[in-house]
Amino acid sequence: MNILKIKEIKKITRDVLQFKTNKPPELEFKPGQATELFIDKEGWKKEGRPFTFTNLPEEDDLEFIIKTYPDHNGVTDKLLDLKSGDEFLQNEVFGNIYFRGEGTFVAGGAGLTPMISILRDREKNGENENNKLIFANKTKADIILKDELEAMLGDRFINILSEEDHDEYAHGHINPSFLKDHIHNLDQKFYVCGPEDMIKSVVKDLKEIGVKDSNIIVEE
Ligand SMILES: Cc1cc2nc3c(=O)[nH]c(=O)nc-3n(C[C@H](O)[C@H](O)[C@H](O)COP(=O)(O)OP(=O)(O)OC[C@H]3O[C@@H](n4cnc5c(N)ncnc54)[C@H](O)[C@@H]3O)c2cc1C
Repeated sequence: MNILKIKEIKKITRDVLQFKTNKPPELEFKPGQATELFIDKEGWKKEGRPFTFTNLPEEDDLEFIIKTYPDHNGVTDKLLDLKSGDEFLQNEVFGNIYFRGEGTFVAGGAGLTPMISILRDREKNGENENNKLIFANKTKADIILKDELEAMLGDRFINILSEEDHDEYAHGHINPSFLKDHIHNLDQKFYVCGPEDMIKSVVKDLKEIGVKDSNIIVEE
């Protein structure tokens, strides 16, 4: 197991924290992949949970963007007590979402995390102009990295909010007619990540509008 020392913690939405840690020199991952993290404190060292690297693999530090659930009494609640200098234990790297070709990324809430690293990586290489992000959240304030994603994707960053009405955003849940409005090429990759129910529903809707199974890439 690697030890990751926390360098910085920022609260970036009402329930999402951004952690920066050192990066062990031998650690390798593809943008979009995840690892298991354990809080290195008494009583928590056996409680591993999967979290995604949101930084680029070649950067000197690691970044994690993590939604906290204070009512679970689980690991993400405990993260709220951590300070710079505290440590995580980190083991193997895994994850099914990594770049397999240009396409549309569909994320719900913290399901954005694998797409952050992938889109940052494409952007760095000037290869983002054919990628689109559809991001579903409850409210505008829940949109993670809104400014960065707007700057990166412009009008290819499409937001839909289920619990708030704003002129500039779609309202409701993703459904086949919403997807048809925003997807004009079915022969591309579709990357889907978010809560289990959302993934099931988006995959069903994508198939309904004519996307082939082999073009749908999912992480639950
Ligand atoms: C590959 C992968 C990558 C991921 N990457 C990220 C990421 O980058 N960022 C991110 O934010 N998340 C990510 N997740 C999700 C993240 O792993 C979970 O949010 C996290 O494991 C939750 O841990 P927890 O201990 O706080 O809660 P849990 O493990 O859900 O639960 C802890 C305790 O609370 C109880 N509990 C469970 N659900 C409820 C509920 N609804 N109400 C009350 N109690 C409940 C459980 O029984 C358990 O005792 C990823 C998941 C996967 C599979």
